[in-house]
Amino acid sequence: MTAFLTRALDHIRDDVRALHAYQVHSAAGLLKMDAMENPYRLPEALQQALGERLGRVAINRYPGERTGELAQALARHAGMPAHNGIMLGNGSDELISLLSLAVARPGATVMAPVPGFVMYELSARYLGLNFVGVPLTADFELDEAAMQAAIQAHQPALLYLAYPNNPTANLWNPDVIERLVQAAPGLVVIDEAYQPFAARNAMGLLDRYEHVLVMRTMSKFGLAGVRIGYLMGHAEVVHHVDKLRPPYNISVLNAEAGLFALEHADVYEQQAAELRAERARLLTELAGLPGVVAFPSEGNMILTRVPDANAVHAGLKARGVLIKNVSGMHPLLAGCVRLTVGTPQENHTMLTALRGVLADLA
Ligand code: PMP
Repeated sequence: MTAFLTRALDHIRDDVRALHAYQVHSAAGLLKMDAMENPYRLPEALQQALGERLGRVAINRYPGERTGELAQALARHAGMPAHNGIMLGNGSDELISLLSLAVARPGATVMAPVPGFVMYELSARYLGLNFVGVPLTADFELDEAAMQAAIQAHQPALLYLAYPNNPTANLWNPDVIERLVQAAPGLVVIDEAYQPFAARNAMGLLDRYEHVLVMRTMSKFGLAGVRIGYLMGHAEVVHHVDKLRPPYNISVLNAEAGLFALEHADVYEQQAAELRAERARLLTELAGLPGVVAFPSEGNMILTRVPDANAVHAGLKARGVLIKNVSGMHPLLAGCVRLTVGTPQENHTMLTALRGVLADLA
């Protein structure tokens, strides 16, 4: 190592050097059922129309008013009350970072039930904040007593409740959520990334609780590659978080693609409806497999307990299907994998591969 490299590394925080990077596994040549993407593309004619629209965008200019127009279109799409505020992030991942930044006083705590979405914890750790993960019950419900006790003990500046949760895919009891909201001393973010697939949402809380924010994303809608997340809540709260946003975080191409998608929301809503129907079919098929427990889902994924999660993950990969092995994430997920709901053909391929792997294991 040269003295110059030592100089550079010496000044990177020890805790950052000790971090493990967020892993994005290569899916080259594999059927991708690991990341809750919408498997459907736009119909050919709309792809052409989008291409023409993007071709006309002034990419020589910094992003301007189209970003604001997209925010307003998303607010209307979500049915956000006009007096609330909305801000956009480069995916909800960026919003999570900005929320952590907004509360990042020395010693501040970020809290979320676990197992949950890992970025809540990672983004807190990036800033040296405490993260308190409160285990769910064995049936993946919120442990109300444990959550209340943790809120009292740690006074979290930021509490995340994913609704539905990832990777468990369930919606929690809304009465419990409301009591936690009442007890929370800081911001409460209801993360509705999987809202297109869920029977309920928590937008109604915005009317009653000024410390609640609802976060959504266009990713699961069908624009995971475009990177647009949005955060809605009391205008003053959103205004302060928005000050921390890099000024041009939504590219002109992303904003235009997002607006285009909302003009064709019916296409995406039809795709979501098909995925919900496929989810029901997949749940029935999985329930019939030996040694397999598929948990109920309100998202576009199914948490599934299998006889040997490592072998199922590796066996499916060898057969060309990439899923997520979540068995090591948390003790409650022992033996579990997470399957993204695909097209009927993809689900058929995955189920055939899974039957083969299970037969080999038996
Ligand atoms: N929230 C939850 C609960 C998620 O599962 C994910 C991604 N899988 C995100 C937020 C991040 O979504 P994005 O950055 O694509 O908007």
